[in-house]
Amino acid sequence: MNRIIITGVAGFLGSYLANELLEDGYQVVGVDNISTGNLNNINKLTRHHHFTFLETDISCDKLLNHPELIDIDGIYHLASPASPKWYQEAPFETISVNTIGTKNMLELANRNNAKLLFSSTSEIYGDPEVHPQSETYKGNVNTWGPRACYDESKRLGEVYCYLHHTLLGTKVTVARIFNTYAEGLQPNDGRVISNFIMQALKGEDLTVYGDGSQTRTFCYVVDTISGLRKMMESEETNGEIFNIGHPIEYTILEVAELVKRLTNSSSKIVFKDLLEDDPQVRCPDISKAMRMLNWKPQVELTEGLHRTIEEYKKQI
Ligand code: UDP
Repeated sequence: MNRIIITGVAGFLGSYLANELLEDGYQVVGVDNISTGNLNNINKLTRHHHFTFLETDISCDKLLNHPELIDIDGIYHLASPASPKWYQEAPFETISVNTIGTKNMLELANRNNAKLLFSSTSEIYGDPEVHPQSETYKGNVNTWGPRACYDESKRLGEVYCYLHHTLLGTKVTVARIFNTYAEGLQPNDGRVISNFIMQALKGEDLTVYGDGSQTRTFCYVVDTISGLRKMMESEETNGEIFNIGHPIEYTILEVAELVKRLTNSSSKIVFKDLLEDDPQVRCPDISKAMRMLNWKPQVELTEGLHRTIEEYKKQI
């Protein structure tokens, strides 16, 4: 396999993955409409002679006839706003990219006999009533709320993958990605790790929504990317869904305290209103990925936060 498309290449995961694939000798065609992505993430890559960048929207089917999009061996379909802050600012675009955009990329995969990896999300489990969540759990999602544009469009994206795979024989694999972090997260991304670190480094209050008892798990980007690559590169993953996330759960208050300690910050922790439909627990069961991909995260939260904090310090 050597010619790969990455949608969302200017995003946090896309730019990291493109860099790794180029280093490993792949040709990469990166696509992004720069809605929530950032050209700074790919400035260095554009000088690489195995990298081609298309600034375009994958929801538009004209893209399918682009002369660069031929002889493709694999598609990592990562395009979509992922932070609640960004997808709630652009709900209709979020729905388009995860549904029509996914349909277009599946069509491209089918024409090229290439495998498509769809970046789904732990959000498809909604506010889960089963804990931890395995891939067989069907979820508890609200259609009538601020998170629905993301959760439900990712769910419909999975449906497109299922139909293409079962009816048309397209090669697909679906990654349900749980919270991922690293220094590549934009400081203004709005997610908990970037917010807490920036607040702690600037001496501002750390804003915990609700009482901080809600839980998440946090996977360092290196581990998430290695999981996605194993999914793409193994034959056995065709038609399979995998949870990709760290299995150790923290309350949000614990994360605030940990960031405060690691940054040696005198910031206060303050409590704000809980967000509507904020899932109360979230933790992946990764036994399927461990069994079929021989994958599990290697970087613990303290270590990953330490690396992230050091890089953020340079940006301030
Ligand atoms: N959160 C918080 N303070 C912040 C940002 C987020 O307490 O400044 C909480 C948020 O309410 C949620 C958790 O942290 O319970 C994770 O939020 P994030 O936006 O990072 O990702 P999500 O898992 O909700 O998509």
